[in-house]
Amino acid sequence: MKDLQDYEVGYDIPALPGMDEADIQTPALVLDLDALERNIKKMGDYARAHGMRHRVHGKMHKSVDVAKLQEKLGGAVGVCCQKVSEAEVFARGGIKDILVSNQVRDPLKLDRLAQLPKLGARTIVCVDDIANVEELSQAAQKHGTEIEILVEIDCGAGRCGVTTTEDVVAIAKAAQAAPNLKFTGIQAYQGAMQHLDSYEDREAKLDTAIAQVKDAVDGLKAEGIDCELVSGGGTGSYYFESNSGVYNELQCGSYAFMDADYGRILDKDGKRIDQGEWENAFFILTSVMSHAKADKAIVDAGLKAQSVDSGLPVVYGRTDVKYIKCSDEHGVVEDPDGVLKVGDKLRLVPGHCDPTANVHDWYVGVRNGKVETLWPVSARGKAF
Ligand code: PLP
Ligand code: MN
Repeated sequence: MKDLQDYEVGYDIPALPGMDEADIQTPALVLDLDALERNIKKMGDYARAHGMRHRVHGKMHKSVDVAKLQEKLGGAVGVCCQKVSEAEVFARGGIKDILVSNQVRDPLKLDRLAQLPKLGARTIVCVDDIANVEELSQAAQKHGTEIEILVEIDCGAGRCGVTTTEDVVAIAKAAQAAPNLKFTGIQAYQGAMQHLDSYEDREAKLDTAIAQVKDAVDGLKAEGIDCELVSGGGTGSYYFESNSGVYNELQCGSYAFMDADYGRILDKDGKRIDQGEWENAFFILTSVMSHAKADKAIVDAGLKAQSVDSGLPVVYGRTDVKYIKCSDEHGVVEDPDGVLKVGDKLRLVPGHCDPTANVHDWYVGVRNGKVETLWPVSARGKAF
């Protein structure tokens, strides 16, 4: 990477350290470093107090710098990510314990996965098909490396994963017998319930998932097979996994940044989770570029600055103006009282943090109104 000072503000970087927040080129991703650090410390303390390992989900931020901060301040044991290409970025960046929490079947991807240990990273991958065991073993043998296996259980998300304990046991045994593979445990992430508003609804879904995972762990034990890791959990569920007595590793991602869709879900006291549990640390900074209509401000963050799959962004800390519509490069902000003017900057809380981070090159870390740091979104665009 070039020295930061070699980048030209505006042309290839939105800001440089030392600048005022007001001078950041927009639209840009801004991290409130105080809030980010508090979120990271809080989840780290929670995991430690509950005897859980925390393997942070790096596919959320796609940033080696954020992952390292999570290791330093939050005691994270390493990362998970969803793609071999993301795993390569984290391994090259010095992350030493990496779980690809996904299925890897393509021959070239298997070959690349098998080389990650050469970069010094413990390499773990999910498997839901016994045929994949042989593929992984061949790739690891070719490179003289070891790949660890978590058998993935579909515990309600309805995507990858086996659904019976018999399948878990069969794959585990195959992994144990395969050269250069190690059976390490179970992956069981219930992704479909994370965003349900009601705490009780989430709890009911997780109760079912936990029963399924317990059955699998018991089934393995009956065959003399121990699970070193039972991994899962997200921002909407980590307390259930932590108190389950069967999971020992969390995979939370969004807690560190927060987004508008997650912020709306409720904790056990019926309070939104962005009103006490987690702080908004992640924003799109946008500028008003037109106010030709008295009641509408047009800002420079549209579709290309964010993902709106989980809803439109929310203007942070304001109830007098509302982001109501976006097209490629425009955002329409309702401004009934005409309080905004051209050049004003707004902080938007994006609907969904992960795919929003993926469309930017840089995080601008801000503290007390000043730019403190610039971090590349290191695995940005790594979709393969
Ligand atoms: N684990 C897996 C396998 C995931 O796919 C995700 C997110 O989708 C997470 C963990 C992290 O979840 P969250 O961002 O809800 O904390
Ligand atoms: Mn997400």
